[in-house]
Amino acid sequence: MGYVDLHLHTTASDGVMTPSEIVRYAKSKGLQAIAITDHDTIEGLEEGLLEGEKIGFEVVPGVEISAEYSPGSMHLLGYFLDIHDPLLKGNLDYLQKARAERNPKIIENLNRLGVRISYEEVVKASGGGQVGRPHFAQVLIEKGYVRSFQEAFDRFLKKGAPAYADKVRFKPEQAISFIKESGGVAVLAHPKTLGMNSTLQKILLELMEEGLKGIEVFYPEHNSLEVAQFKALAKRYGLLMTGGTDYHGIDKEELDIGVGRGEMRLPYSLVEELKEVRTRT
Ligand SMILES: [Zn+2]
Ligand SMILES: [Zn+2]
Repeated sequence: MGYVDLHLHTTASDGVMTPSEIVRYAKSKGLQAIAITDHDTIEGLEEGLLEGEKIGFEVVPGVEISAEYSPGSMHLLGYFLDIHDPLLKGNLDYLQKARAERNPKIIENLNRLGVRISYEEVVKASGGGQVGRPHFAQVLIEKGYVRSFQEAFDRFLKKGAPAYADKVRFKPEQAISFIKESGGVAVLAHPKTLGMNSTLQKILLELMEEGLKGIEVFYPEHNSLEVAQFKALAKRYGLLMTGGTDYHGIDKEELDIGVGRGEMRLPYSLVEELKEVRTRT
């Protein structure tokens, strides 16, 4: 029995491997199935699914949508979406467009602060994928304005910092609704980033009312206590449990597909349960 990884990024968002590369990599690592879950886009799915068919490896079509939420951040995963659904495509295109308008605003803000970097340099740093704040940070480091990613975010890029520009997001109920409408199963990603507090139960109940079906229990940044807490919540509310490494192919040392930092072994039954919930709804 192989293992699965249900949270992965490719070059279609901010990952390093192309969809085909990550599918082949997963197979070479002995996994049984993966889900590709890029940020706010399904652009990589067609290629990933095709590659899976070609080499005989199961790929679950997925997405990870950033929703409006404060003070932490809320990401919603969608699994088994219809990648040709026009509503889903339209909504995600809208987010991509909003992102494209946000980035030049960050450049304007930086220039106003006397930081001389151009948007072309940032696009180049992105290597052709989605442009995000880490790429701005990279250029700031390269040009000697800051010494680290942390400093780049603290001084310029984080929410509330002087070069920050707001991001357009959907409300959680909107994201869940178009995941559902496209035949997908909506799952709350890494609940830890909501900010660990007593409101998690309340939030879960509200999201379930909108059609949330699962919660990402297994995640490299969740410690064993948190995993136990999220498991208990999933049981209490009859939610699916999912998990994945959020592997981007880079950065975080020693994090690898399928195994996280060595602790993760997620059974194929997670995929079967997702399929079951999907057919039930
Ligand atoms: Zn996320
Ligand atoms: Zn992710």
